[in-house]
Amino acid sequence: MSSSPLAILHETFGYEQFRGPQQAIVEHVVAGGDALVLMPTGGGKSLCYQIPAIARQLDGHGITIVISPLIALMHDQVGALHEAGVKAAFLNSTLSFDEALDVERRLMRGDITMLYAAPERITTPRFLDLLDDLLARRQLSLFAIDEVHCVSQWGHDFRPEYRALTVLHQRYASVPRIALTATADALTRADIVERLQLEEAQHFVSSFDRPNIRYTIVEKKDATTQLLRFIEREHDEDAGVVYCQSRKRVEEVAQMLCEHGINALPYHAGLDAKLRQTHQDRFLREEGIVMVATIAFGMGIDKPDVRFVAHLDMPKNIEGYYQETGRAGRDGLAADAWMVYGLQDVVNQRRMIDESPAGEEFKQVMRGKLDALLGLAEATDCRRVRLLKYFGETSHACGNCDNCLEPPQVWDGTEAARKLLSTIYRIQQMSGISFGTGHIMDILRGKTTDKVNQFNHSTLSTFGLGAEYSEQQLRGVLRQLIAIGGVAVEGEYSTLCLTEGSRAVLKGEVPLMLRASLSGPAERKPKREK
Ligand code: ADP
Ligand code: ZN
Repeated sequence: MSSSPLAILHETFGYEQFRGPQQAIVEHVVAGGDALVLMPTGGGKSLCYQIPAIARQLDGHGITIVISPLIALMHDQVGALHEAGVKAAFLNSTLSFDEALDVERRLMRGDITMLYAAPERITTPRFLDLLDDLLARRQLSLFAIDEVHCVSQWGHDFRPEYRALTVLHQRYASVPRIALTATADALTRADIVERLQLEEAQHFVSSFDRPNIRYTIVEKKDATTQLLRFIEREHDEDAGVVYCQSRKRVEEVAQMLCEHGINALPYHAGLDAKLRQTHQDRFLREEGIVMVATIAFGMGIDKPDVRFVAHLDMPKNIEGYYQETGRAGRDGLAADAWMVYGLQDVVNQRRMIDESPAGEEFKQVMRGKLDALLGLAEATDCRRVRLLKYFGETSHACGNCDNCLEPPQVWDGTEAARKLLSTIYRIQQMSGISFGTGHIMDILRGKTTDKVNQFNHSTLSTFGLGAEYSEQQLRGVLRQLIAIGGVAVEGEYSTLCLTEGSRAVLKGEVPLMLRASLSGPAERKPKREK
């Protein structure tokens, strides 16, 4: 058999041609280079390491170890590889001692092309011995690290066991590595590179756009009724996922949907493992099941025809939102990402951050990420442009999100934004230091607090200049400023600072439009008819 990547693509996988950056990635890895691959869900990440694994074994380099966080995912992949005639196996807790021993023997005989293993297994002495032995015989070909964002505490799914993967570059420095993820913002990427010492890795970043997904974010009024209407109107008998924050809520919502004749099932970590499995199997096999779930559900579930993903509660950040909504429409057909959000969500998320046992720096980053998500939720312009920008991509208004399809009523927050920026500027000039949101709001609204007195800030020319706005309005303005980079939140105390982008807003070159609904009285336009 030929070890050329294209021949393997044809003969083993039965595909005509490589998709997007696959070929470049495969060639780079076959040649022994390290790679960091960012590709959206459904983009075809698996082939990026599976083809190199086969090619490199044919060339005499030996075995590829695939690190994967989920047992279900391993089983699916290994099953699919078997069907394609590839020698794949896994080592995880579902194997009996004898079965595991058998896999180990095959491994030493070179009778395996790809071995899937969970990260916690990699660092066991027994496994390290196996790897040492393979290395000594030059039969350790490649490490593939799937879902690599799990290594970063800034990612949305940190798994401490991923930290142990530092052993790969420390102990097996000569073995090439390919790391893959479908979700990582700039901070998470940098953290992955640092944690796993992937400085030498070439980055392959695909567009994160999922053009077939229509993004809609509506204000939460009566969430369950809104959900019911959304499903009845737009997704009668479709398969979908509804995410809720708590187990209790999952149960309630599933029951409510069932009472209205929708085929809904609950899924959360509190359910008996067997029942969870049954629900998951039914979701995958039967048509038109709506899974009501906590975020415990989803990773590694490859169901192509999920027609909608609904969020009844706001996720923690944009990465989570992107990952969860990304489970819709993997088949490329039209799908909906629909979310309701309200101020209470924001309060809850903030409290969860505040009350978490994490360090202050961590909390600051989490608050910043939450703000970015709020910026997305409150945006009045194209959601997709915002979403992609968060991942470092520039794009144009998409015509397939709620804001593009039905522009919301807005109020002009430019003047408020200028007052806010001037305040930050003047305080900085007067006191030589920056302050946090609360203090800036107090000055704008003309409140004489202890702090205002202490710093003599009531003498500022902007003191009380924003009295006509509610605190909620001003906070909305601030969030939008942060979202467009007109203000930076810095340091341990989350102080507000001017940026390069501030000037354009101050000069009035960049209008700042806010949702009318957020400021109270104005009504949203009537819903578009389907
Ligand atoms: P990801 O892991 O990035 O979510 P997968 O590796 O599961 O994506 O691939 C998604 C789907 O696309 C799979 O069904 C896979 O078989 C298919 N696929 C991947 N690459 C190609 C290709 N070059 N040609 C045709 N289909 C492909
Ligand atoms: Zn749009």
